Amino acid sequence: MHEHVLVDFIGADQASPSRYDADQAFKVILPYLIKAKNDGCQTLVECTPAYLGRDIRLLRRLSEASGVNILTNTGYYGAAKDKHLPPQAFAESADQLAARWRMEYERGIEGTSIKPALMKIGVDEAPLSAVDAKLVQAAALTCRSTGLPIASHTSTGRAAIEELELLDRAGVPARSFIWVHAHNERDGSLHTRVAKAGAWVEFDGISDASVDRHVDLVTQMKTQGLLERVLVSHDAGWYRVGEPGGGQFRAYDTLFTKFVPALMAAGFSKDDVRVLLVENPRQALTRG
Ligand SMILES: [Zn+2]
Repeated sequence: MHEHVLVDFIGADQASPSRYDADQAFKVILPYLIKAKNDGCQTLVECTPAYLGRDIRLLRRLSEASGVNILTNTGYYGAAKDKHLPPQAFAESADQLAARWRMEYERGIEGTSIKPALMKIGVDEAPLSAVDAKLVQAAALTCRSTGLPIASHTSTGRAAIEELELLDRAGVPARSFIWVHAHNERDGSLHTRVAKAGAWVEFDGISDASVDRHVDLVTQMKTQGLLERVLVSHDAGWYRVGEPGGGQFRAYDTLFTKFVPALMAAGFSKDDVRVLLVENPRQALTRG
Protein backbone atom coordinates (compact mmCIF):
# COMPACT_ATOMS: atom_id res chain seq x y z
CA MET A 1 0.00 0.00 0.00
CA HIS A 2 2.92 2.37 0.39
CA GLU A 3 6.17 2.01 -1.52
CA HIS A 4 8.47 4.24 -3.53
CA VAL A 5 10.51 3.69 -6.68
CA LEU A 6 12.27 7.05 -6.87
CA VAL A 7 12.43 9.97 -4.43
CA ASP A 8 14.14 13.33 -4.59
CA PHE A 9 14.40 15.09 -1.23
CA ILE A 10 16.03 18.22 -2.63
CA GLY A 11 12.87 20.31 -2.10
CA ALA A 12 10.04 21.56 -4.27
CA ASP A 13 12.01 24.52 -5.59
CA GLN A 14 14.59 22.28 -7.29
CA ALA A 15 12.97 18.85 -7.77
CA SER A 16 12.92 18.05 -11.47
CA PRO A 17 13.39 15.06 -13.81
CA SER A 18 16.48 16.86 -15.12
CA ARG A 19 18.24 15.93 -11.86
CA TYR A 20 18.55 12.27 -12.82
CA ASP A 21 18.99 9.95 -15.77
CA ALA A 22 15.66 8.15 -16.11
CA ASP A 23 17.24 5.31 -18.11
CA GLN A 24 19.76 4.67 -15.36
CA ALA A 25 17.04 4.83 -12.68
CA PHE A 26 14.93 2.41 -14.72
CA LYS A 27 17.79 -0.11 -14.84
CA VAL A 28 18.40 0.15 -11.10
CA ILE A 29 14.72 -0.13 -10.07
CA LEU A 30 13.42 -2.78 -12.49
CA PRO A 31 15.05 -5.87 -10.88
CA TYR A 32 13.43 -5.03 -7.53
CA LEU A 33 9.99 -4.87 -9.12
CA ILE A 34 10.56 -8.16 -10.96
CA LYS A 35 11.61 -9.72 -7.66
CA ALA A 36 8.45 -8.36 -5.98
CA LYS A 37 6.34 -9.76 -8.81
CA ASN A 38 7.99 -13.17 -8.40
CA ASP A 39 7.36 -13.00 -4.64
CA GLY A 40 3.64 -12.55 -5.33
CA CYS A 41 3.15 -8.79 -5.58
CA GLN A 42 0.58 -7.90 -8.22
CA THR A 43 0.04 -4.25 -7.38
CA LEU A 44 2.29 -1.68 -5.77
CA VAL A 45 0.99 1.69 -4.58
CA GLU A 46 3.67 4.25 -5.36
CA CYS A 47 3.24 6.99 -2.77
CA THR A 48 5.77 9.55 -3.96
CA PRO A 49 3.92 12.83 -4.47
CA ALA A 50 4.59 15.48 -7.08
CA TYR A 51 7.60 17.68 -6.19
CA LEU A 52 9.19 14.71 -4.38
CA GLY A 53 10.03 12.72 -7.48
CA ARG A 54 6.74 11.41 -8.85
CA ASP A 55 7.70 10.52 -12.44
CA ILE A 56 4.69 9.26 -14.35
CA ARG A 57 6.53 8.18 -17.47
CA LEU A 58 9.12 6.27 -15.47
CA LEU A 59 6.35 4.56 -13.51
CA ARG A 60 4.66 3.52 -16.74
CA ARG A 61 7.88 2.07 -18.17
CA LEU A 62 8.57 0.17 -14.96
CA SER A 63 5.05 -1.19 -14.77
CA GLU A 64 5.10 -2.37 -18.36
CA ALA A 65 8.53 -3.97 -18.05
CA SER A 66 7.91 -5.68 -14.69
CA GLY A 67 4.27 -6.68 -15.02
CA VAL A 68 3.53 -5.09 -11.62
CA ASN A 69 0.53 -2.75 -11.57
CA ILE A 70 1.85 0.53 -10.22
CA LEU A 71 -0.69 2.97 -8.82
CA THR A 72 0.16 6.63 -8.49
CA ASN A 73 -1.25 9.61 -6.64
CA THR A 74 -2.22 13.24 -6.74
CA GLY A 75 -1.83 15.74 -3.89
CA TYR A 76 0.92 17.66 -2.11
CA TYR A 77 3.20 16.69 0.74
CA GLY A 78 3.15 19.17 3.61
CA ALA A 79 5.28 17.18 6.06
CA ALA A 80 9.01 18.00 6.59
CA LYS A 81 8.09 21.60 7.43
CA ASP A 82 6.69 22.35 3.97
CA LYS A 83 10.00 21.80 2.13
CA HIS A 84 8.22 19.82 -0.58
CA LEU A 85 5.33 22.20 -1.17
CA PRO A 86 5.23 24.20 -4.40
CA PRO A 87 4.42 27.95 -4.20
CA GLN A 88 0.80 27.43 -5.22
CA ALA A 89 0.18 25.42 -2.05
CA PHE A 90 0.64 28.68 -0.14
CA ALA A 91 -0.77 31.11 -2.68
CA GLU A 92 -3.96 29.33 -3.69
CA SER A 93 -7.14 28.40 -1.86
CA ALA A 94 -8.18 24.86 -0.99
CA ASP A 95 -10.68 25.09 -3.85
CA GLN A 96 -7.96 25.99 -6.34
CA LEU A 97 -5.69 23.20 -5.15
CA ALA A 98 -8.54 20.73 -5.32
CA ALA A 99 -9.22 21.86 -8.90
CA ARG A 100 -5.61 21.01 -9.81
CA TRP A 101 -5.84 17.56 -8.24
CA ARG A 102 -9.26 16.90 -9.74
CA MET A 103 -7.84 17.84 -13.16
CA GLU A 104 -5.20 15.11 -12.81
CA TYR A 105 -7.95 12.64 -12.06
CA GLU A 106 -10.20 13.78 -14.90
CA ARG A 107 -7.65 14.43 -17.66
CA GLY A 108 -4.58 12.46 -16.64
CA ILE A 109 -1.24 13.48 -15.17
CA GLU A 110 1.33 15.58 -17.03
CA GLY A 111 -0.02 15.02 -20.51
CA THR A 112 -0.49 11.26 -20.10
CA SER A 113 -3.74 9.35 -19.80
CA ILE A 114 -2.60 8.03 -16.40
CA LYS A 115 -4.87 8.95 -13.52
CA PRO A 116 -4.22 8.87 -9.79
CA ALA A 117 -5.67 5.99 -7.78
CA LEU A 118 -5.51 7.96 -4.55
CA MET A 119 -4.43 11.22 -3.01
CA LYS A 120 -1.20 11.36 -1.09
CA ILE A 121 -0.79 14.33 1.17
CA GLY A 122 1.41 14.88 4.23
CA VAL A 123 1.16 16.95 7.38
CA ASP A 124 3.46 17.88 10.26
CA GLU A 125 2.65 17.45 13.94
CA ALA A 126 -0.60 18.64 15.55
CA PRO A 127 -1.93 21.26 15.85
CA LEU A 128 -1.94 21.37 12.06
CA SER A 129 -0.39 24.44 10.47
CA ALA A 130 -2.60 26.62 8.27
CA VAL A 131 -1.11 25.23 5.07
CA ASP A 132 -1.37 21.62 6.27
CA ALA A 133 -5.01 22.15 7.23
CA LYS A 134 -5.55 23.64 3.76
CA LEU A 135 -4.13 20.49 2.16
CA VAL A 136 -6.60 18.42 4.16
CA GLN A 137 -9.43 20.73 3.04
CA ALA A 138 -8.30 20.43 -0.58
CA ALA A 139 -8.17 16.66 -0.20
CA ALA A 140 -11.70 16.69 1.23
CA LEU A 141 -13.00 18.71 -1.71
CA THR A 142 -11.22 16.43 -4.18
CA CYS A 143 -12.55 13.35 -2.44
CA ARG A 144 -16.08 14.68 -2.54
CA SER A 145 -15.94 15.26 -6.29
CA THR A 146 -13.84 12.26 -7.37
CA GLY A 147 -14.23 9.71 -4.58
CA LEU A 148 -10.44 9.30 -4.44
CA PRO A 149 -9.23 8.09 -1.04
CA ILE A 150 -6.85 10.28 0.98
CA ALA A 151 -3.59 8.79 2.22
CA SER A 152 -1.88 11.23 4.55
CA HIS A 153 1.66 11.00 5.91
CA THR A 154 0.87 11.60 9.59
CA SER A 155 3.37 10.73 12.30
CA THR A 156 1.15 10.97 15.36
CA GLY A 157 -2.31 9.96 16.42
CA ARG A 158 -3.13 13.50 17.51
CA ALA A 159 -2.55 14.79 13.99
CA ALA A 160 -4.54 11.91 12.49
CA ILE A 161 -7.48 12.70 14.75
CA GLU A 162 -7.32 16.37 13.81
CA GLU A 163 -7.37 15.39 10.13
CA LEU A 164 -10.35 13.12 10.69
CA GLU A 165 -12.22 15.95 12.41
CA LEU A 166 -11.55 18.27 9.47
CA LEU A 167 -12.69 15.62 7.01
CA ASP A 168 -15.80 14.88 9.02
CA ARG A 169 -16.75 18.56 9.02
CA ALA A 170 -16.19 18.61 5.25
CA GLY A 171 -18.54 15.66 4.77
CA VAL A 172 -15.88 13.05 3.94
CA PRO A 173 -16.45 9.62 5.48
CA ALA A 174 -13.68 8.21 7.67
CA ARG A 175 -13.35 5.19 5.37
CA SER A 176 -11.82 7.53 2.74
CA PHE A 177 -8.90 8.35 5.03
CA ILE A 178 -5.69 6.33 5.36
CA TRP A 179 -3.51 7.19 8.35
CA VAL A 180 -0.07 6.67 6.80
CA HIS A 181 2.80 5.83 9.19
CA ALA A 182 0.52 4.88 12.10
CA HIS A 183 3.31 2.54 13.26
CA ASN A 184 5.19 5.64 14.46
CA GLU A 185 2.51 6.25 17.10
CA ARG A 186 3.43 4.34 20.25
CA ASP A 187 0.02 4.77 21.88
CA GLY A 188 -2.00 1.82 20.58
CA SER A 189 -5.24 3.27 21.93
CA LEU A 190 -5.02 5.87 19.14
CA HIS A 191 -4.79 3.12 16.51
CA THR A 192 -7.92 1.65 18.03
CA ARG A 193 -9.71 4.98 18.13
CA VAL A 194 -8.96 5.83 14.49
CA ALA A 195 -9.87 2.33 13.29
CA LYS A 196 -13.11 2.35 15.26
CA ALA A 197 -13.96 5.69 13.67
CA GLY A 198 -13.85 3.80 10.36
CA ALA A 199 -10.55 5.05 8.92
CA TRP A 200 -7.60 2.96 7.72
CA VAL A 201 -4.63 2.49 10.02
CA GLU A 202 -1.50 1.82 7.99
CA PHE A 203 1.56 0.22 9.58
CA ASP A 204 4.41 1.01 7.19
CA GLY A 205 8.09 0.31 7.30
CA ILE A 206 8.12 -3.48 7.45
CA SER A 207 11.77 -4.50 7.40
CA ASP A 208 13.81 -7.45 8.61
CA ALA A 209 14.42 -5.61 11.88
CA SER A 210 10.76 -4.73 12.45
CA VAL A 211 8.93 -7.99 11.69
CA ASP A 212 8.18 -8.75 15.35
CA ARG A 213 6.87 -5.28 16.06
CA HIS A 214 4.71 -5.31 12.92
CA VAL A 215 3.27 -8.72 13.78
CA ASP A 216 2.51 -7.30 17.22
CA LEU A 217 0.78 -4.21 15.85
CA VAL A 218 -1.39 -6.22 13.48
CA THR A 219 -2.14 -8.82 16.16
CA GLN A 220 -3.33 -6.12 18.54
CA MET A 221 -5.77 -4.88 15.91
CA LYS A 222 -6.97 -8.38 15.07
CA THR A 223 -7.58 -9.15 18.74
CA GLN A 224 -9.91 -6.16 18.87
CA GLY A 225 -11.78 -7.27 15.75
CA LEU A 226 -10.18 -4.46 13.73
CA LEU A 227 -8.12 -6.42 11.18
CA GLU A 228 -10.52 -5.10 8.53
CA ARG A 229 -9.17 -1.56 9.07
CA VAL A 230 -5.44 -2.34 8.80
CA LEU A 231 -3.02 -1.78 5.91
CA VAL A 232 0.68 -2.62 5.77
CA SER A 233 3.69 -1.76 3.63
CA HIS A 234 7.47 -1.70 3.52
CA ASP A 235 7.69 1.97 2.64
CA ALA A 236 10.76 0.67 0.82
CA GLY A 237 12.71 1.39 -2.33
CA TRP A 238 13.99 3.71 -3.73
CA TYR A 239 16.26 5.29 -6.23
CA ARG A 240 17.68 8.26 -4.31
CA VAL A 241 18.13 11.18 -6.64
CA GLY A 242 21.43 12.91 -5.99
CA GLU A 243 23.23 9.81 -4.68
CA PRO A 244 25.67 7.85 -6.87
CA GLY A 245 23.82 5.07 -8.70
CA GLY A 246 20.67 5.97 -6.75
CA GLY A 247 22.20 5.01 -3.40
CA GLN A 248 21.15 2.10 -1.21
CA PHE A 249 17.93 0.50 -2.51
CA ARG A 250 15.78 -1.43 -0.05
CA ALA A 251 13.93 -4.35 -1.71
CA TYR A 252 10.17 -4.93 -1.52
CA ASP A 253 10.53 -8.46 -0.16
CA THR A 254 10.33 -8.77 3.63
CA LEU A 255 6.54 -8.69 3.59
CA PHE A 256 6.48 -11.83 1.46
CA THR A 257 9.52 -13.68 2.75
CA LYS A 258 9.39 -12.94 6.49
CA PHE A 259 6.31 -10.99 7.59
CA VAL A 260 3.63 -13.32 6.19
CA PRO A 261 5.36 -16.46 7.53
CA ALA A 262 5.65 -14.72 10.93
CA LEU A 263 1.93 -13.89 10.87
CA MET A 264 1.08 -17.51 10.10
CA ALA A 265 3.34 -18.64 12.93
CA ALA A 266 1.49 -16.22 15.22
CA GLY A 267 -1.82 -17.91 14.41
CA PHE A 268 -3.12 -15.89 11.47
CA SER A 269 -5.06 -17.92 8.93
CA LYS A 270 -4.58 -17.75 5.17
CA ASP A 271 -7.85 -15.89 5.11
CA ASP A 272 -6.55 -13.26 7.56
CA VAL A 273 -3.52 -12.74 5.34
CA ARG A 274 -5.74 -12.36 2.30
CA VAL A 275 -7.84 -9.78 4.16
CA LEU A 276 -4.72 -7.83 5.08
CA LEU A 277 -2.96 -7.95 1.73
CA VAL A 278 -5.77 -8.19 -0.81
CA GLU A 279 -9.21 -7.32 0.54
CA ASN A 280 -8.24 -4.32 2.65
CA PRO A 281 -6.19 -2.62 -0.06
CA ARG A 282 -9.00 -3.25 -2.54
CA GLN A 283 -11.51 -1.68 -0.15
CA ALA A 284 -9.24 1.20 0.74
CA LEU A 285 -8.72 2.04 -2.94
CA THR A 286 -12.37 1.75 -3.87
CA ARG A 287 -13.59 5.24 -4.61
CA GLY A 288 -16.11 6.35 -2.01
ZN1 LIG B 1 6.68 6.71 2.19
